[in-house]
Amino acid sequence: MAIATINPATGKIIKTFAPLTDPQIDEKIGKAEETFRSYRWSSFADRGKWMLQAARILEEEQDRFGRLMTLEMGKPINAAKTEALKCAWACRYYAENGERFLSDIEIKTDATRSSVHFQPLGPILAVMPWNFPFWQVFRFAVPALMAGNVALLKHASNVPQCALAIEEIFTRAGFPAEVFQTLLIGSEEVEHVIDDPRVRAATLTGSIGAGKAIGGEAGRRIKKTVLELGGSDPFIVMPSADLNVAVKTAVQARTINNGQSCIAAKRFIVAESIAEPFERRFVEAMKNLKIGDPMDEQTDIGPLATADQVKILDEQVRRSVSGGARLLTGGKPVGRPGFYYPPTVLTDIPKETPAYREEMFGPVASLFRVANIDEAIDLANDTIFGLGSSVWTNDRAERARFIEEMEAGMVFVNAMVASDPRLPFGGVKQSGYGRELSDFGIREFVNIKTVWIKEGEEGRRSEIE
Ligand code: NAP
Repeated sequence: MAIATINPATGKIIKTFAPLTDPQIDEKIGKAEETFRSYRWSSFADRGKWMLQAARILEEEQDRFGRLMTLEMGKPINAAKTEALKCAWACRYYAENGERFLSDIEIKTDATRSSVHFQPLGPILAVMPWNFPFWQVFRFAVPALMAGNVALLKHASNVPQCALAIEEIFTRAGFPAEVFQTLLIGSEEVEHVIDDPRVRAATLTGSIGAGKAIGGEAGRRIKKTVLELGGSDPFIVMPSADLNVAVKTAVQARTINNGQSCIAAKRFIVAESIAEPFERRFVEAMKNLKIGDPMDEQTDIGPLATADQVKILDEQVRRSVSGGARLLTGGKPVGRPGFYYPPTVLTDIPKETPAYREEMFGPVASLFRVANIDEAIDLANDTIFGLGSSVWTNDRAERARFIEEMEAGMVFVNAMVASDPRLPFGGVKQSGYGRELSDFGIREFVNIKTVWIKEGEEGRRSEIE
């Protein structure tokens, strides 16, 4: 894919970028390694100070960064500004807590002293998607840099200006040059980077296909990976739920970021006794969303990020309908310039259709009716994915069952799934492995070093033996 800014609201090419050559990539990796040798000894106090400065830049220039995100991938402008602020939150959170998360842990054993220490690994490659073009990068980079690693970013080819802006933020914040570098490269160059012995680990947020490629390439070279892949999250509504709040949140959970979120609710599983009012109100609310220019603050639904995303989604909806699913609203691309697809709801969905089996990356909801909680859990778990899940119930016994039985990395009760710097984020099954955010996230790219010390007579004796 060409590295270029193409405005999804118009389809016009705004700016193109020449990809780095192999020698240029190698030079950047060399600089990353050289920088790591000194950066790893910087203090948590310094890293925290630079992180707080990065937070200030994000907060003060949220308008500029927000407009850049909207220009490159089409998310509504208010959401884009909020994304910049969320990145600032992560910077502040790890500035305050990073040192605590990585301080030595003393463990009582038969040694005189034994402990666990956390040390940075080196240059880490991050391959990132366009859907949250700032947040995805920050939630990797902030803990990685706080831990003393250095970062190499290969961002999605359609958000090069966001990628360069993020590099600029870390540099202006005071981090030593080359602690964070953007590599403007296509996906075909990723293996070249992983193959370099100076690159110690890789993380990907993206599709299953990219996960298999990157996981395989890193695995063959015995390098650690974290994979945050797709999802087809269930949103289960039981009879005891507050229907008003559930319907309102369902619309938001499906259409946030123009429907292009890994943790967007995609399959709505509703108890039969409340299915009719839920369906009527949900479809009505989806129809009423305002489609338009994402730079306009009144817009609910902007364009999808690329022409390809419209093509893929349209094809999935068509195959679902020809396979027997019934359209309740939407169902074909909006007839206007740009990459627009309308809020769409499908029901009566047969098992082998895309609406049942695949991730739909756009504002398309799959609606199912179930007789009871057993059916709800079976249907929710009947997927290759296991990222998030949102369950709506005020019955304590039901709540306990959902928490225990959902095959997912996250269960949210009476709320939509959302990421939070304080909580681990990640999935099971083909949604990937490893965790981002919280203390779990900062410990993904460190050497967890065991230290064992014997002192005195006992120690000397064992040295002789
Ligand atoms: P994608 O095609 O996998 O792209 C993501 C990144 O991987 C891009 O930088 C892309 O580069 C690169 N890439 C693609 N194929 C590659 C390969 N074979 N080898 C190396 N790099 C490769 O994903 P997308 O369609 O842009 O993004 C949507 C997907 O990401 C969805 O499945 C969504 O659920 C998932 N996602 C997951 C999370 C999570 O946290 N679990 C969050 C957001 C999105 P190019 O742009 O150059 O192709």
